[in-house]
Amino acid sequence: MSDAIETVNWGVIPGRPGWYEPARAARGLRALADAASLIQAAEAGSLLDGGGIVHGHSGAVFPAAVVAAPLLLDIAQQGHPAARDTALGLVDEALSSYPHVGYTRVTTPCGTAVPICCAIAHHLRARTVFLAGLGKRGKALLADAADHWRFEIQECAADGNDTAAFGTLAGRFPAGVHAAELHLAGGITVLDDVVLEYPPVEGSREAALRVIGRHPGELPPGATLFPVECGERVQG
Ligand SMILES: [Zn+2]
Repeated sequence: MSDAIETVNWGVIPGRPGWYEPARAARGLRALADAASLIQAAEAGSLLDGGGIVHGHSGAVFPAAVVAAPLLLDIAQQGHPAARDTALGLVDEALSSYPHVGYTRVTTPCGTAVPICCAIAHHLRARTVFLAGLGKRGKALLADAADHWRFEIQECAADGNDTAAFGTLAGRFPAGVHAAELHLAGGITVLDDVVLEYPPVEGSREAALRVIGRHPGELPPGATLFPVECGERVQG
């Protein structure tokens, strides 16, 4: 766990100057991984919450929070029980905080400009079994993460003036018509009217979306959709 923290070069992760303090991210995570009492966990937490991965007083989240999220989840899972609440609280805060303008997106294996909140939600979903096993606290985190849905297109078919897009859905697509960001090869296009046609059946992530007024050629396989609101989250 400590090795994973040490290998991160926090200084090269972007963040608004004067707000993001890479040294606090490194020191805070190391201290939280080593914490063996509630006081030590709280001290580590205040480093991370005071410019390390979020700035709690202003409700700002930094791109470093995306790198820190799986490490915090490791600490919650394998660290001292005293560190668990602090670690989960920080992930929760990072997910609900808004980033500074110019520092709202990150590169992940799923795309080059993924909204910070959606990237954090993805890390939470990867620990579904662990979080669900924690009871109420973990389930609330998973429910929050589900709002940050993503849909990866596998295949499309024309349907009148619309397109039926088949693929995999992570998270929960809300009822009704919604705007979505279409990410493809580093570019982002906004689709105004998207609706869930077939939700995933239990045990599967296969789903279908209807993209109103768009042709299949505009929605190539491999493209990924994210909620448009997530891309608009920014410190006011
Ligand atoms: Zn999001």
